[in-house]
Amino acid sequence: MAEPIAQGKLLLNEPLARYTSWRVGGKADRLYIPAGLQDLQVFLQNLGASETVHFIGLGSNLLVRDGGVRGSVVLMHNVLTGLRMDEGLVYAEAGVTCAKLARFTARQHRHGAEFMAGIPGTVGGALAMNAGCHGGETWNVVKQVQTIDRYGALYLRDRAEFVATYRHVEMAAETADRELTEWFTAAWFDLPAGEASEAEQKIKSLLARRLATQPLNQPNAGSTFRNPPGDFAARLIEACGLKGYRVGGAQVSEKHANFIVNLGDATAADIEQLIAHMRDTVRQQHGIELQQEVRVIGEA
Ligand SMILES: Cc1cc2nc3c(=O)[nH]c(=O)nc-3n(C[C@H](O)[C@H](O)[C@H](O)COP(=O)(O)OP(=O)(O)OC[C@H]3O[C@@H](n4cnc5c(N)ncnc54)[C@H](O)[C@@H]3O)c2cc1C
Repeated sequence: MAEPIAQGKLLLNEPLARYTSWRVGGKADRLYIPAGLQDLQVFLQNLGASETVHFIGLGSNLLVRDGGVRGSVVLMHNVLTGLRMDEGLVYAEAGVTCAKLARFTARQHRHGAEFMAGIPGTVGGALAMNAGCHGGETWNVVKQVQTIDRYGALYLRDRAEFVATYRHVEMAAETADRELTEWFTAAWFDLPAGEASEAEQKIKSLLARRLATQPLNQPNAGSTFRNPPGDFAARLIEACGLKGYRVGGAQVSEKHANFIVNLGDATAADIEQLIAHMRDTVRQQHGIELQQEVRVIGEA
C-alpha cells in the first residue's frame, strides 16, 4: 500500500519574519502548515530522520536569526483549533490563541485562565514556555496534555509527567538540562467554576493594565529576560539608563525597559546585539546575570 501523503501546505524558502511578532528573521527551508492532527502525524512520519524540526505558534517569544532556519518549521497557529468542555475540563488544542481560551473559559463560568487573555501566543506556545503573569501560570491549571514526537506518534500525558518552573517546562523523567523531545498538540485545563461576569471583569482590567504599560503598538516579543529572584528585569535595565537605547532598528522600549521594539527596519542581528548589551550592562552595574526568556532559532 502507498504511504499516505501529507495534505497540508508546504512553503519553500518562506520568510519567517511574517510569522513572528518582532517581524524579523530569515527564511525557513520548509514551512509546513498541517491540515490537521492526522496530517501532522503523516508529515512527521514521512520526514527524513536527519531533518531538524521546529514548531512555532504565534512567534511571540521567538527571535529568528537573519540567516533563517535549516530544516522544517511546523506552524501550529490556526491549525489545531479545537476548543470545548470535556467532562468538566476545558479542552484546547495547541493552535488556539491564549486570548480565545481565556474568553471561552470565562463564558463557561470558569476561573483561573483570565491571565492568559493578554498573552499574544498559542496554547502550544504557552505550554512550552509555561507562560504566565499576574500570579497565574499555564501549568498550574493543566490536568493533562497530548503530545506528538518527531516520528508522529501521539501520547496522552498527565501533569505529573512534567516539571514546570518559571517560564520553563521539561519532562519529569528527563535530566534537568534536557529539552523537551515532544511537542504539544492539546491540553485539558482544570479550572474551578465561578461567576462569568467576575472573570470577564478581571480580563478587562488585566488588558487595560497591559495597554498602559506595554508598547503594544510596536513589534516586540514581550519580556526579553526573565525576572531574577526578588527583582524585576525591567527595573534593573531602566536603572542602567537603557530605556530608549538603540542598536540599528532595535530599541529598548521607552514604555517598558524589558521590551525591545522593532522601529521598522530592525534585523535579528540588531536585536541580538541589543540583548547582549542589556545583559552586559546589567551585569556590570548590578552584578546580576539576566536569563533570556526569548527563544532564538536559526543561523546568523
Ligand atoms: C506584547 C507581548 C506580551 C507578552 N506577555 C507575556 C506574559 O505576560 N507572560 C508570558 O509568559 N509571556 C508573554 N509574552 C511572550 C509570549 O507571548 C509567550 O511566551 C507565549 O506563550 C508564546 O506563545 P507562541 O505561540 O507565540 O510561541 P512561539 O513564540 O511561536 O514559540 C515559543 C517557544 O515555544 C515553542 N512552541 C510553540 N508551539 C509549540 C508546541 N505546540 N509544542 C511545543 N513547543 C512549542 C517554540 O518552539 C518556541 O521554543 C508576551 C509577548 C508579547 C509580544
